[in-house]
Amino acid sequence: MPNSVAFLGLGAIGAPMAAHLARAGHSLTIWNRTMERASGSAAAVAGARVATSAADAVRDVEIVITCLPESADVAELLAASDAALTHALRPGMLLVDCTSGDPDTSRRIASELAAIGVGFIDAPVSGGVAGAEAGTLTVMVGGPAEALERARPVLESFAGKIVHCGALGAGHALKAVNNALLALHLWSTAEGLVAAMKAGVAPEVALDVINASSGRSNASMNLFPERVLTGAFPRTFRLALLAKDAGIAAALARSQKSAAPTLQLAADLMRIAQLELGDEVDHVEAVQLVERWAGVELRSS
Ligand code: NDP
Repeated sequence: MPNSVAFLGLGAIGAPMAAHLARAGHSLTIWNRTMERASGSAAAVAGARVATSAADAVRDVEIVITCLPESADVAELLAASDAALTHALRPGMLLVDCTSGDPDTSRRIASELAAIGVGFIDAPVSGGVAGAEAGTLTVMVGGPAEALERARPVLESFAGKIVHCGALGAGHALKAVNNALLALHLWSTAEGLVAAMKAGVAPEVALDVINASSGRSNASMNLFPERVLTGAFPRTFRLALLAKDAGIAAALARSQKSAAPTLQLAADLMRIAQLELGDEVDHVEAVQLVERWAGVELRSS
């Protein structure tokens, strides 16, 4: 059964997700803060209506999907008086937040929306831009099971796997933890490869052994061979967003009064890398900071 859906936020990952919704036959309206991005997107080409404002986008739809950098942006968009988005939402609608956000802000948003009869689930995704283009993202959902079942036919348009993780905020918590692990794997693999290189082992030889051994990870198996050793460093997922995610994981552990020094380290390292390299670089470019400090480059010979 096709649904009427509004998709707000056509960034690096939002745009290919929205394009799948249009191709799957849902009645889709898209909106982006920078209008040209919406008009030029694949979803628009596939037949979505391009809205003139967020409020215009959500008029008369059943499900609203947001995919913005962080939860504060979702809260700001809902609260912005000029956008009047909250006023345009109607009782019975469901907001599905695919932002990699933070559990506390999402619980606050959910309770404000509940007061006007609008449902909310957090539904961040993993799988990267490649997974979004292939329609094979993993969606991790927090919130009521009935709300997930309502959203499932829509989520299936771009998902390979949909997991109900728990109550509101559970999806965001798990996404942040996953990405803190990504940050640690990326950084520690860079340090390890630099140390091996200085000990006389070429990076491709080191990766060949690590990837057949217990130190392997997605970073060692995919990111380093495809992006670092080639020097390609494509820009698909901003380092600033990974720093945000690792910060959420560290804050989560602090709020639980858990000792979690490596989660804090992941957050600090990613923030340092972001400050050094800027907001627009890709997350894998953090490796270049390790290289700079060591005075070597991890490239194929
Ligand atoms: P981008 O930076 O590419 O895009 C961000 C989008 O949000 C743009 O459409 C931007 O609009 C819009 N935006 C930013 N701030 C606001 C605001 N205050 N109000 C309204 N719109 C705003 O991010 P991504 O698409 O890469 O990421 C989106 C979310 O998905 C993030 O939470 C990220 O962590 C997560 N994610 C990203 C992955 C990836 O591989 N890229 C993988 C998995 C999750 P404008 O065009 O006007 O700037």
